[in-house]
Amino acid sequence: MMAIVLTTQAVWAQTPHTASKQVQLVFAGDTTLDSTPGALIKKGGDPLQAFGELFAQADVRLLNLECVVATTGKAVPKHYTFRAHPRVLQTLKRHVDGVTLANNHSGDYGRAAFAEMLTLLSSHQIAQAGGGMNLREAHTPWMVEKNGLRIAILSYNEFMPRSYEADSHAPGVAWSEDEQVVDDIRRARSIHRADVVLPFMHWGWENEPTANPRQRALAKKMIEAGADAVVGGHPHVTQDIELYQGKPIIYSVGNFVMKETDNPQQRAGWVLRLNIDATGVHAFDTHVARINHQGVPSYDKQAPSPCWQRPWGQERQCVAGSRPDK
Ligand SMILES: [Zn+2]
Repeated sequence: MMAIVLTTQAVWAQTPHTASKQVQLVFAGDTTLDSTPGALIKKGGDPLQAFGELFAQADVRLLNLECVVATTGKAVPKHYTFRAHPRVLQTLKRHVDGVTLANNHSGDYGRAAFAEMLTLLSSHQIAQAGGGMNLREAHTPWMVEKNGLRIAILSYNEFMPRSYEADSHAPGVAWSEDEQVVDDIRRARSIHRADVVLPFMHWGWENEPTANPRQRALAKKMIEAGADAVVGGHPHVTQDIELYQGKPIIYSVGNFVMKETDNPQQRAGWVLRLNIDATGVHAFDTHVARINHQGVPSYDKQAPSPCWQRPWGQERQCVAGSRPDK
């Protein structure tokens, strides 16, 4: 059987642009800026450079920041702990508007270091979702208003340790307790007046190419509660995609900037692009990041990777090929 491979441009050209309010959102996966990527930044390099143009063309840009950015704190007893120098925020600021923080590394140096990161992000005017000085803040969406659309971005972790979770008076991340997630999604619409709600999840088993039953069940629950798409990361590899009630579930986009990899699958991630209007996500495509042994991605424009648009019942394969249009 011959696979259908479309160029990204073809997909975008076919997408009906009937609605006036259009927003393009780009999300990159697990980004750890200590170690060699941090050293590259210190030398004046930029580990995100290969995707600079893709970020620049989008209206809203974010990634999962899988480390703490701080000068203080002490590593918690754990196999891998990641802390990046505050200088990396200048580089991040060049490419993204915000980060998701609900993951299993943002608390690696304790609560005070996490709080320091929140202050540093805010002073660099980098927004964040999934973190807060207390539980309420961690569950408050990052509201983005672009081209007349209000988008709520939520972020949750469900990979241990749970000790990184925010408390009523202590800084930390949002944990994905089902009822709380459902309530947050509903409140994003009712209280924060969101037109579009996007939860970003940190979940799944590492190195598994397909989502587990827990991911599938929660994703569907989130869509039933009103999420317009569900996007995940953490397994270090990309996972399968599902369409549920016409809404995409991209279970894992895999790594983006990551030194700690131990197999070739971990060195290929997707940068995800969502096309959004008032009716939700009406198309997406993915762009393949090939991550070298220093943890730095390059943009593979020849590799086919998933894309979708309404009313397709499932995703197809696209190649980025020529320069993506807007
Ligand atoms: Zn993780």
